[in-house]
Amino acid sequence: MPKKYVYFFSKHETEGNKDMKNLLGGKGANLAEMASLGIPVPPGFTITTEVCTYFMEHKSRFPEGLEQTVDRTMKKVEKIMNQKFGDPKDPLLVSVRSGARASMPGMMETVLNVGLTSKTCEGLIQKTANPRFVYDAYRRLIQMYSDVVMEKAEGIEPAEGRGVRQQLEQELGKMKKARGVRNDTDLTAGDLKELIAIYKAKVKEVLGKEFPDDAKKQLWGGVAAVFKSWNGKRAISYRRIEGIPDAWGTAINVQTMVFGNMGDTSATGVAFSRNPATGENKFYGEWLPNAQGEDVVAGIRTPNPLNESTKGEQNRHLPSLETAMPVVYRELDGFRRKLERHYRDMQDIEFTIQEGKLWMLQCRVGKRTGTAALNMAMDMFREKLITDRDVVMRVTPAQLDELLHPIVDPAAEKSAQEAGKLLAKGLPAGPGGANGQLVFTAVAAVEWTRTGKKVILAREETNPEDVEGMRAAVGILTARGGMTSHAALVARGWGKCCIVGAGEIHIDANAKTMTVKGQVFREGDFITLNGTRGYIYADQLAMKDATENPLFQQFMKIVDKHRKMGVRTNADTPEDAARARGFGAEGIGLFRTEHMFYGRGSDEPLFILRKMILSKTEEERRRALAELFPFVKRSIKGTLEAMEGLPVTIRLLAPPLHEFVPQNEEKQKALADSLGITLEDVRKRGLELHESNPMMGHRGVRLGITYPEVTEMQIRAIFEASAELILAGKKCLPEIMVPVTCDVNELKHQKEICRKIYREVVAQTGIKAIPYLYGTMIEIPRAALLADEMAQEADFFSFGTNDLTQMGFGFSRDDIGGFMKEYLDKKILAADPFQTIDRAGIGQLIQIAVERGRRTKKNLKIGICGEHGGEPKSVEFCYEAGMTYVSCSPFRVPIARLAAAQAGLRHGKK
Ligand code: ADP
Ligand code: MG
Repeated sequence: MPKKYVYFFSKHETEGNKDMKNLLGGKGANLAEMASLGIPVPPGFTITTEVCTYFMEHKSRFPEGLEQTVDRTMKKVEKIMNQKFGDPKDPLLVSVRSGARASMPGMMETVLNVGLTSKTCEGLIQKTANPRFVYDAYRRLIQMYSDVVMEKAEGIEPAEGRGVRQQLEQELGKMKKARGVRNDTDLTAGDLKELIAIYKAKVKEVLGKEFPDDAKKQLWGGVAAVFKSWNGKRAISYRRIEGIPDAWGTAINVQTMVFGNMGDTSATGVAFSRNPATGENKFYGEWLPNAQGEDVVAGIRTPNPLNESTKGEQNRHLPSLETAMPVVYRELDGFRRKLERHYRDMQDIEFTIQEGKLWMLQCRVGKRTGTAALNMAMDMFREKLITDRDVVMRVTPAQLDELLHPIVDPAAEKSAQEAGKLLAKGLPAGPGGANGQLVFTAVAAVEWTRTGKKVILAREETNPEDVEGMRAAVGILTARGGMTSHAALVARGWGKCCIVGAGEIHIDANAKTMTVKGQVFREGDFITLNGTRGYIYADQLAMKDATENPLFQQFMKIVDKHRKMGVRTNADTPEDAARARGFGAEGIGLFRTEHMFYGRGSDEPLFILRKMILSKTEEERRRALAELFPFVKRSIKGTLEAMEGLPVTIRLLAPPLHEFVPQNEEKQKALADSLGITLEDVRKRGLELHESNPMMGHRGVRLGITYPEVTEMQIRAIFEASAELILAGKKCLPEIMVPVTCDVNELKHQKEICRKIYREVVAQTGIKAIPYLYGTMIEIPRAALLADEMAQEADFFSFGTNDLTQMGFGFSRDDIGGFMKEYLDKKILAADPFQTIDRAGIGQLIQIAVERGRRTKKNLKIGICGEHGGEPKSVEFCYEAGMTYVSCSPFRVPIARLAAAQAGLRHGKK
């Protein structure tokens, strides 16, 4: 049987329904659905997306038999309307509307009033006795058709402002000026008739072709042009951003025209069944009397508010539909309720009123802000419109993220863009927005903040010594670095707005200037960052407070009810641990011992650590370690205590030591004195620590193998801290994690130390037992492949996906700024693997490790502690891979909880 290419819809008979979006597009499927529900929809038919695909694959030809089918279906429409398409006496007019599977608002084309010709025009005037309306419709057709069909679809690319549409609009403007009127509605029938003649001449002049004076020609020209608009520039870039496949194609709806431009009892409008910005359960929208289609959104006239209760400052003086046409408004409100009940979600509606009669032209699930998504979901749950499972699925992780951070006011951002204040784009490393005064050093950031100023710290790149300044600043901007660069990691950990790798900006910390495209900014100048998008603006843009919604906690409770995978946090201090617990963390998945060497209060431990690093002999090193011990123990104890018996994964020292070698002379001198050696010796020992590839150098477990006393000290700190807590009647559950391992023998070696210290501490404190686990971080591909062996010695695995990705790809994560953008633009890679786990490659390593690890130990605890642990798509992958938990920075804990629950609902039981 040949394929069915055309689906009819009318109040008597409808062939499609809302579940046929793939074939009929969203618009077509919903027009069919509304027609079936008995809602007044002008009759018409949908040409399927398959025809579009055929058309694209066959050099813009239509499939066999389409024309006859369209003719046949058109006859059905004509019969209902008791009019004929192209009939000079009583012509049927139609719109030719695009409509893809996924809504692409405004990205493709639509042509209205198709079928108006010099002949049908006369007939319609006879019939309606309303020449003004007919000429208005005709001049709109010429405007749209010449633009969409005769110019764009032909691939003509006129110079800026020289497109046929703009040139016709200029003629319209001239006419209005000549008649001394402000609105097009003030032009008379005579004016418009004259304008049509001018339009036709102009079209001929600009495009070298006559405007087609034949209804059928117009129809097929329109259909071909709408299909071609699938490959229009706007549509293509929108698909890139939204990740919509190019192969889908669009459907086309050919639909009987209804007219909002027949006079003052006619109108057109757009509405939302609830407020899409706030979620408030009030009918919200805009309308215009005596207007057609896109006038409302195009901003030709200021639209009127839909009803009294949603009037705002700017439109208080304008008439609402509720008061202007109360009967129609009540009917519309009825459809709003009916559609919401039917679709069980907020609807975005288009309608037209023709001489007092209401017609519905479109409905779809409406786009909304994070706040609105949360409020609507909770309201609809209370209204019993949706189930608690639906509630979980109704808020996307990105929307939840938005709720947790202050953001740049979208309106302010839009006008800033229009005013040319968008300076540059970088990688969106830390979400939310921030505005403040520029500073170029960490010291200045701290000082300025102390005097009550809000600052943005701009650096070429950041290093551990900037931490205080980063903490003080409201936002962080760097010219170099990737999404997992130090600055980005730290910023996200604090929920701080941060943009990294903004290659276009140049920072001169000495001169205290930032140069962007020739513009120079100085210390104290205001800038604004949109860390969610990576946009950098001049000036201080208004911010929107993402105030804590009281519904948030309730929502998260429902989320947790459906969540099967655990969520922990990466936290290094008791404060972070407490904050993360507030966000719902069920343990710590990564506590980094080295954290105490950064930031506030780090002077003393860092000094001792440096002594340890520069030690030449075991004896020197043991002395330094003994000094360091109380600091390590205190920090571990505080965090274990804050977690009250929840598991805390403590990672043994991981970073390359050279990171801590002092560069400034004063500090080198102090160290020399303390070690009883010369300044020259300190420098020499520092140089000896230099490595060509420090990230693959003497770090992690390798330190513990070469200097067992370093492991000993840390293990002792963990067990003594635990023992003291137990003696004080408290609970604790440390999990000792050995980093950067590649072989089971490393684990065996370190385990010996662990056991020895355990026995010593137990004997020395007299407690019976200290509960603990011993495990490893899987971050080297070899360890993943040998997971069955690793599991013989490990009680748990935690995937360090930052390093696993770095080593799996051979991409240095601190240096991806130089090529990642090109890799994405040129589609070499679909996504930055440091942001979203690369399922194809790194994902395989993870799956192999999970499977082999559990083959050895059935109940092996498996988690992830890399940055990916808070990224929704990666969380979903972790769930599918069968992990026990994910771990992420405190601020991302709610997002991970939501993503985990959604993965569970999507993929079923694990
Ligand atoms: P978009 O997808 O860009 O919104 P539409 O196909 O919905 O494009 O059409 C644009 C505008 O034209 C809408 O405001 C719609 O209401 C109006 N319109 C489309 N078809 C008709 C019709 N048959 N009668 C009256 N107005 C129409
Ligand atoms: Mg529309």
